[in-house]
Amino acid sequence: MKTVGDKPALISVVVPVYNEAKNVTALYKQLRKLFDTDLAHYRLDLVFVDDGSSDGSLAEIMRIEKQDSEVRTIRLARNFGKEIATTAGLHHAKGDAAIMIDADLQHPVSLISRFIREWDGGADVVIGVKKPSKGAAGWFKRVTSRAFYAVMALISHTEIRANATDFRLLDRAVVTEFNRFTERNRLTRGLIDWLGFEPVYIEFRPAKRKYGKATYSTLQLIRLSVNSIVSMSYFPLKIAGWLGVLIVLVTGPVGVFIMVEKYWLGDPWGFNITGTAHLTVILLFMIGVVLICLGLIAVYIANIHDEVVSRPLYVERRRPRRR
Ligand code: UDP
Ligand code: MG
Repeated sequence: MKTVGDKPALISVVVPVYNEAKNVTALYKQLRKLFDTDLAHYRLDLVFVDDGSSDGSLAEIMRIEKQDSEVRTIRLARNFGKEIATTAGLHHAKGDAAIMIDADLQHPVSLISRFIREWDGGADVVIGVKKPSKGAAGWFKRVTSRAFYAVMALISHTEIRANATDFRLLDRAVVTEFNRFTERNRLTRGLIDWLGFEPVYIEFRPAKRKYGKATYSTLQLIRLSVNSIVSMSYFPLKIAGWLGVLIVLVTGPVGVFIMVEKYWLGDPWGFNITGTAHLTVILLFMIGVVLICLGLIAVYIANIHDEVVSRPLYVERRRPRRR
């Protein structure tokens, strides 16, 4: 058991809720039971963030809040999306550690005991990793998610483990660092990874969604992937520039060769290069130049983006905690 000072440690559990009326009570019951039995030595700080639900989730949460003093409700004025809802929850979390968990019961509550054991053992970040279950996701989702992680691994500096979920435990120190982020377009777990605290991974099999359906549509998932790639790397921005360099490197010498061969040497090899071919080469060359200019502008935009987003300059590694 871990204590902070002479008090038992406080564990925040942050739950983003968007139209989960049928799930929240079940989740609450499981959490309550866990913290009354296995984790009775810890104090619970259960933070529900209602992300503008329209199905009575809020009433349900408020009812729970009324009968349990360890439950709090944060109400967002409208639907801001899961990433923001989770962020709001972390802002409000008071615990010595915070656990992020989905409301839809896909993240097994029973795993929380193991998360906390790892935390007690000194881990700053504990991450639930989905065991890919065959047939659970369609082939399209499987292939695209694989491709996404492959691209991410190629172009970004932070290591992102495939199938790492939002089901995580963060030490207070990590929450404090996380709360310094000011960017709007955000992928919560990407930011946590960016901080660089060494994670402990724990595998789990995701349960089927209990009630309701997953609210991320394919389109939203694509948007989220694009957003996270764009926020983690400037490579896409620089592609144009590199393409330009390639074109100029090819068409430049070809153009010079044509000029020299035809006008200077008088076409000794009898190529008989047409005016159209000349024009094509010149045009391509100019397009290359334009693309290079775009690439240059991209570098400036990347710098502006860095400044505007203004992430922490550095994150200090923490001393090992005393147990
Ligand atoms: N969620 C949210 N705001 C949204 C969409 C989802 O707070 O706009 C919550 C939702 O209530 C759940 C979690 O985020 O607790 C994960 O949502 P979902 O199951 O739809 O996503 P998936 O399991 O596909 O990642
Ligand atoms: Mg889900």
